[in-house]
Order: sequence, then C-alpha cells, then structure tokens
Amino acid sequence: MSTFDPNLPSTGEAGAPRESDAHSLSVGANGPLLLHDVNLVEKLARFDRERIPERSPHAKGSGAFGELRVTEDVSKYTKAKLFQKGAKTPMLARFSTVAGELGSPDTWRDVRGFALKFYTEEGNYDIVGNNTPIFFLRDPMKFPDFIHSQKRLPDSGLRDATMQWDFWTLSPESAHQVAYLMGPRGLPKTWRHMNGYSSHTYMWVNEAGEKSWVKYHFHTQQGVEYLSNEEATRIAGEDADAHRKDLFDAIKNGEFPKWDVSVQIMPYEDAKTYRFNPFDLTKTWSKKDYPLIRVGEFELNQNPVNHFAQIEQAAFSPSNLVPGIGFSPDKMLLGRVFSYPDAQRNRLGTNYNQLPVNRPVNDVNTYSKEGAMEFFHSGDAPVYAPNSFGRAYQDEQGPVDNGWESDGEMVRAAYTLHAEDDDFGQAGTLVREVFSDEEREEFVKTVAGTLDSVVEPVLSRVFEYWKRVDQEIGERIEKAAKAKTGADEVPGSIQ
Ligand code: NDP
Repeated sequence: MSTFDPNLPSTGEAGAPRESDAHSLSVGANGPLLLHDVNLVEKLARFDRERIPERSPHAKGSGAFGELRVTEDVSKYTKAKLFQKGAKTPMLARFSTVAGELGSPDTWRDVRGFALKFYTEEGNYDIVGNNTPIFFLRDPMKFPDFIHSQKRLPDSGLRDATMQWDFWTLSPESAHQVAYLMGPRGLPKTWRHMNGYSSHTYMWVNEAGEKSWVKYHFHTQQGVEYLSNEEATRIAGEDADAHRKDLFDAIKNGEFPKWDVSVQIMPYEDAKTYRFNPFDLTKTWSKKDYPLIRVGEFELNQNPVNHFAQIEQAAFSPSNLVPGIGFSPDKMLLGRVFSYPDAQRNRLGTNYNQLPVNRPVNDVNTYSKEGAMEFFHSGDAPVYAPNSFGRAYQDEQGPVDNGWESDGEMVRAAYTLHAEDDDFGQAGTLVREVFSDEEREEFVKTVAGTLDSVVEPVLSRVFEYWKRVDQEIGERIEKAAKAKTGADEVPGSIQ
C-alpha cells in the first residue's frame, strides 16, 4: 500500500512545498482573495471532488418550495427587485445536518444548514446560511481540515471526539460557534422550529448606488424549540429521518411553516471602525448596535414530488447574486463563492444549472458551452465574444456598483483586529448572558458528555479553551468531566 509520509512538510499535489495550510493569499490583511493562490485553489478544488455523489458537508437534508413576500419598504438600502415592497418570489429551502452522511440521523447534535434559493426575474439569488449566525472558522483555507476533523478517522472509519476537539481547540476562533452548538440550539426540535441566518455579511446597493452591509435573520413563526439530549438520542434511534418527515407531513397536512425575514443594516463607513470586524464570520453584530429591520416573511407550502430530482439535485451557491446585492470582504464567503459551484460541478456535472430545480425562471444567454449533458444551448449563434454577427455581449468597464476599496501588499495573514476582536469574548457573552441558568447547566453537561474518549494533550486543552471563554464555566466543565469518570485520572489519557 502506498501512503504519504505524514511527517514530511506539506506539499502541493505536484510536490512543491506549500506556503500555508492556514491562510489564504489576500490583498492586505482584510483584502479580497486571489485566484492565483494555487495553494487555496488546489485545496478547495480537490476537497470539492472528494465524494461522489453525496454532498460533502450537508449530505443529509430535505426541503420544500414556497414564497417570499416582502411587506416593508427597504428600497433605501437595496434596489434588488425581490426585496421591493409587495414583491412575491417563488423559492426553495433546504435544511440539513452538516457532518453526518446521507443516512445519518436528523437529531444528532450539529449545526443545521439553512439554504434558500429565490427564483427572481433577474436570476437566481441564493442565501446559503445556517441555523447559527456564526461559523467555526474565518479563513476558507481551514475549511477542508475542519470538515475532515468532524467526519471519520482514517483507520477505523469512526467519528472521533479527540479529533473534533483537537481541531476546535487548536482553532480557537471556533469557540463562539462551538458554544452555540453545545447550547440548546444544537438540537432543534424540528427544522420548522429553528431560526436561520445568512451568517455572512453581504452588501446591499440602492438605486442611487449607495452601499450598506447587511446580515439576514430568519425567525421562525413556529417558535424556537429544542430537544433534550435524551430526546434527541431516543429519536435518532427510533426515526433517523424525523426532521425530514416532520417537514413533509406538516406541509402535506396544510400546516405551512413561516419565517419572518429581517436584516441588520450597517452603514458602509461603519465597517472600518465597528468594535468587531463585521466581516469575521465568527462574530455577530450586536443587535443593540444594529437592530433588526423587518423585510417580510417566507412560507413553505409545496413538498417536492421527487426528492432526488428536486432536493438532492438542488444546487445552492452564494455566488448566485442579483443586481442590488454584493459580496463583502468576508474571506469565508469569498472562498465559498468559488467552492460551492465547483462542488456542484463535481457532484452533479458541468451543466447542473440546466436541471429544472436549478434553472433560473428568466432567460439565460451564456457563452458557457458543452460539457457533459448539455441540454440548453445557443443553437448556431456565434460561440465567442466579441463577434461581428449580432450575438449580444457585455463589456462594462470601471468600478462595479457592489465593490469595495482594497489596497495593500499580498500577505497571508489574519484579519486586522478591531477594538473588541478576540476569539473568546462573544462566546463568553453567549454562555454568560444569553443562556438561562438551566441552559448553562445543560451546556456544561453536554460538553462534559462529549469528553469521555478524548485523550491528552487535547483534553487539558479543552478545559483551557472553556476557561478562556469563561473561567467558571471552564472549571465546571472540568469538574463534570472528571466526576463522570469518578476520578481525577481521566480515562483515555495517554499519561
Ligand atoms: P441581544 O441580547 O440583543 O441578542 C441576543 C440574541 O441571542 C437573541 O436576540 C437571540 O437571537 C439569541 N438567543 C437567545 N437565546 C439563545 C440561545 N439559547 N442560544 C443562542 N442564541 C440565543 O445581544 P447581542 O446582539 O449583543 O448579542 C449577544 C450574544 O447573543 C452574541 O454574542 C451572540 O452569542 C448571541 N446572538 C446574537 C445574535 C445577533 O445577531 N446579534 C443572534 C443570535 C445570537 P435570535 O432571536 O436570532 O434567536
């Protein structure tokens, strides 16, 4: 059997040394990422091709069709047609777990995917969010490593708590999301009873060309409800598809779930001086600083008639934008903008956008052509642009209306810190100020309950990680973990 020597310094696939496994090449510490970062592109492109055909993360899920209804006037922030007062837009939502495979139970503790596709007159607009407003990472260079650590060991094929905690504790920017995950929201009662968030920051642009930064919040009208650890374990054993079934049955019975759609809007200039880096995906914007602004609601009211054709083959990507909306300097978003459509090209094939569930409702006139299973094409029209034979082509030049300024040296670096940026502060606020006493108590038990098989030096680092989130909580977790084993000597320790 041929294996790599894992003790050698890491290299690219052609054997040359890699510059970094942790930081993408960007224009300045806060700048956009660069397509010629072969380290990043190779890493993401290869990761996208690891599994065929199930999705790599978010494999297990389901969804339904519905409608977005805009009831408020937010035209001073965006000209996007789908967000104009009175607009109604057909849509698809897909909910999922992240780490489990296609057959895994819906009620295992995990973040839940919350992916939305709006079929607008100006093209498809996708928001690929989660049921958490934050994420484990802030640089896409780490994403494949993160998912590897949450999946399975190379030898036994088992999931492994040591591997999960090793990655998390060596990537302390994960603390906020791990606190969220280990709290009550890591076990939603059903998909209907959870909120969704864009998590990423996007840009909105109005008719006058004025820009703002935006985060989306989708609040369930069914009420946020959770499962206890015991209930979730029981349901996982009884019905691995409990959440899939709940959504399907509810819609079949005419109980159409609804979510309020709201946004936080940050004036464009505030981003430079806001106390937290507003593009860091491990942070929220305090609602005290940027209160929610209501936009409307969406309702899911139509089940798929063919799960494979309409849900499994649905391809969501944050690269699907419409006029009036832009990206932001959030490095995770910029990485996903490449990685998601690339994953779909791999999973579904080059022409996945021609499948009925992915096809925009407006007409397409693209110079992209051929590839496996091309169905729509441009007939005998010229296949190149520019051309002298009448086929339309675009050639806009100058600043783009949804861009931002960027300048600086190319570096591999963490974001420049804002006044209150650190890895643990917002996690501490969540655990101390948002969780109730009862939720905190459960949280301590939940974290301690994941540590039975965790070996040193990872275990000690887990206690340290939580003490940095909150000294007292960390001590309680350590005590609870040690009490579970009945001794200070923790089993699984290699000492
Ligand atoms: P706020 O007090 O205004 O907001 C706290 C928010 O926490 C609530 O509005 C609610 O958001 C959410 N929440 C309530 N219970 C739980 C729970 N058990 N688990 C997770 N989230 C819960 O304060 P800030 O906006 O200043 O944020 C303080 C902390 O709240 C942040 O550090 C973050 O950890 C957490 N939070 C913040 C959100 C934000 O966008 N600002 C969103 C969610 C959590 P919701 O109604 O969306 O569920």
